[in-house]
Amino acid sequence: MRVGIGFDVHPLKKGLTLYLGGVKIPSDRGLHGHSDGDALIHAVIDALLGAAGKGDKGKYFPDTDPKLKGISSFKLLAETMRITKAKVVNIDCIVFAEKPHLSKHYGKIQTKLASLLKIPGSAVSVKATRPEGLGIAGAGIGCFCACLIK
Ligand code: MG
Repeated sequence: MRVGIGFDVHPLKKGLTLYLGGVKIPSDRGLHGHSDGDALIHAVIDALLGAAGKGDKGKYFPDTDPKLKGISSFKLLAETMRITKAKVVNIDCIVFAEKPHLSKHYGKIQTKLASLLKIPGSAVSVKATRPEGLGIAGAGIGCFCACLIK
């Protein structure tokens, strides 16, 4: 058994589609990035790579690679599963965001991540926390993930 952690953060920008965990979330702003900006999947990727001792996602998916411009992050996660050959036991994720409120989207995100990781939905935990108006997270969304593999 091996454990890994991952963290990622992207800025929110008007006019972009918001993707978290491979799910389109209704929002007036989306995450800006070289890929589709899905910070939650990026955190999962780094947790998987960390658990497998394979370095960080920049090693495999550099943000200078024109082939990865605008790519769906779930494709990057699928490739990460291939790279690590990981048999995932479970993941636990935290989304740090002032807006939008995510609780009603947990189920969809869990189902999507579970299908990508080839584990039951009960092995995927997704939760969110807000900075309670502190103002430190209104400009972006940060995501954490811990994962166990065998
Ligand atoms: Mg990222």
